[in-house]
Amino acid sequence: MSDGNHVLAANGLQVYFRVKVGGKRANVRAVDGVTLGLERGVSTGVVGESGSGKTTLGKALMKLVKPTAGSVLFKGKDVSKLSRSEFKEYRRSVQMVFQDPFDSIDPLFTVHDAVAEGLRILGVYSDRAELDQTVYRALETVRLVPAEDYAKRRITSLSGGQRQRVGVARAIAMNPEVVILDEPVSMLDASVKGEIINVMGQLKLEGKTFMMITHDISTVRFFTERVAVMYLGKVVEVGPTDEVVNEPLHPYTQALVAAVPVPDPSQKVKSLAQGEIPNAIAPPPGCRFHPRCPLAQEICRREEPLLREVRPGRYAACHFAQ
Ligand code: SF4
Repeated sequence: MSDGNHVLAANGLQVYFRVKVGGKRANVRAVDGVTLGLERGVSTGVVGESGSGKTTLGKALMKLVKPTAGSVLFKGKDVSKLSRSEFKEYRRSVQMVFQDPFDSIDPLFTVHDAVAEGLRILGVYSDRAELDQTVYRALETVRLVPAEDYAKRRITSLSGGQRQRVGVARAIAMNPEVVILDEPVSMLDASVKGEIINVMGQLKLEGKTFMMITHDISTVRFFTERVAVMYLGKVVEVGPTDEVVNEPLHPYTQALVAAVPVPDPSQKVKSLAQGEIPNAIAPPPGCRFHPRCPLAQEICRREEPLLREVRPGRYAACHFAQ
């Protein structure tokens, strides 16, 4: 699931964080052997509970955290081995929109400063006029108009929804090929959510490749064509979004889908899988989901199921998926 056809890919990626527990050193296995490719022009969702490793995966693909093992491939090349000019191209081409627009944008910035920051750092403009035009175009794309007026405003004068539009604008100002969205609408009101999703839908039509990290199956169903489900640092299911949501093969995906609220007050919302997500310092042996899985058998406690193609284009890491 990772080859030269993918614009960006994780290849056997591991990201461990060193921590101290009771005076002893230990590893938090945030991402633990993920292979996942993003097809050009296709939007891929990455879903899972908090603690599943999805945000760390996004940051590793952006090279914001260092892999412990494995590699990140940009157009088939290991990003740690890119030449200076290739790395600059990767930096421009892969952008991220963060969850919290209050945290991810310097409050001392004007809107122009925020949108122009990446362009300035990489020096990808010839003069001030070109820089201004690029900033205005990006603001118009996210419908912060008149762009010249918004560009002068302080970040602190904007609402949460407007700040998140600036977050999207600063990513697209770089003219990226891939945009990684980390829970981009989770902190926004329902009305503003729709607006931001529509803006990004427009960018999809322009052929951008998106990776959307979220715990929200409804948003993934609406926005993406493919989805990967993560559990405790591993991908447990991958496939076309419609098929995965309508007929999940892995018991964890089944629990995630069953927990999606339905707009019918007479129907009870089922809770997510029993218990809490286990500690990523010492994941359960065998299948990591076995302590919470209603279908667990003896083999599940002993043998880790590999991610395998269960049906054409459908992958699941469960001994019994078929
Ligand atoms: Fe459940 Fe066993 Fe499948 Fe894991 S391998 S998801 S424990 S049935």
